[in-house]
Amino acid sequence: MFGIETIQEVVAVFKLYFSSTRQKRDGNGEFCYRSLDKTSRSFATVIQQLPPDLQDPVCIFYIVLRALDTIEDDPTLKAEAKIPLLKKFHETIEKPGTVLTGYNTSKHGELMDNFDRVIEVYGNLKDKYRKVIKNITNKMGNGMCVYLEKEVVTLKDYDEYCYYVAGTVGEGLTDMFSLSYYPDNKIKNELSVSMGLFLQKTNITRDFEEDIREDRTFWPRAIWEKHAKELIDLTKPENRKEAVKCLNMMILNAMEHIPDCMEYMERLAPVGGKPEQVGVWKFCAVPQVMAIATLAECFDNPKVFEVGAVKIRKGTTARLFVETTNMTELKKIFAHYVKIIKSRITSDNVLNYVQNLEKCSNILKSIELKEQFSTGTSLVKVLSYSATIAFSSFCVYLKRDYINEQIKKLLKK
Ligand code: MG
Repeated sequence: MFGIETIQEVVAVFKLYFSSTRQKRDGNGEFCYRSLDKTSRSFATVIQQLPPDLQDPVCIFYIVLRALDTIEDDPTLKAEAKIPLLKKFHETIEKPGTVLTGYNTSKHGELMDNFDRVIEVYGNLKDKYRKVIKNITNKMGNGMCVYLEKEVVTLKDYDEYCYYVAGTVGEGLTDMFSLSYYPDNKIKNELSVSMGLFLQKTNITRDFEEDIREDRTFWPRAIWEKHAKELIDLTKPENRKEAVKCLNMMILNAMEHIPDCMEYMERLAPVGGKPEQVGVWKFCAVPQVMAIATLAECFDNPKVFEVGAVKIRKGTTARLFVETTNMTELKKIFAHYVKIIKSRITSDNVLNYVQNLEKCSNILKSIELKEQFSTGTSLVKVLSYSATIAFSSFCVYLKRDYINEQIKKLLKK
């Protein structure tokens, strides 16, 4: 029913609807948030969890990197033209008035055309945040250049590419958190990279069909060559069984980052219920639970190879958003989905069946589950119970005189 199936989901949708408050912004600030909304609805929602003074730096960080990615993905530019643009982008963001022309056909055309407005807001951020954005933009731009003409072959290449385009984001956000509400530096370590890698690998796995249609390939040869001669063969319906097996191996590879993500989230957990830390924690937790739910949805699912991305239901999204409130809930949700994936593994749909089952068991151990995530009370069930009760009450009402008679008789006896 409209992507909503259980009572818990109905409650979550209402809670989410009534709890989302957006701060008012004018002029260029408003443009930046509108761009964020257009490029990623879910990110635009989750950013509202952050303490107010972190929202602008994180919003600008995101759309600056979105613009960089638009250059990386531009199908009309050759590598030699892209390289100087990518390498110098960290300087471009400091040149007031710069607009990025020639992207009219891109879905981010409006952002590129009005990039001077982003630069303006960037210029007004605190120095410490500007430094982080500039540093990460530099790292990412240079890293993208490495893979413009290089194929992702080994698992090491795959991790390296994902590091450049997402692990660096984990580092940058962690820097911003350390500069604001986590001064003791306990979150500043390589675990933040795993947070980015887990999200990026989930997207790369889910978006296979769209990416290959737009001539982008990120699945590492080391994984797909065991299932196809050429990567494009995975799109052919006659190869669906091998394609799904390959997909499952991609999912199991992404899951290797879960123990690190749990550890990072544990370190990020709010001390003494500090509201700013609660907000930062939730901002990081929601995308993580969405990712594991997405992987569970994609596992063994041939629809990943068809047009139209596989998505988690609206009701599930709302519930995950509302119910991810603390470490216990986060672990429950992760354990729930890892178990689903584990239960779907067969000797026929993955390579190295025994090792992969063991891998899932070890991930589950790392989550240290105590309670179970409830899948919810089915809305259809509740409605049918309610209908039964209503019908019975109506019958009782119609027969009330007869029933009264019978009761009186009984009492007299
Ligand atoms: Mg890209």
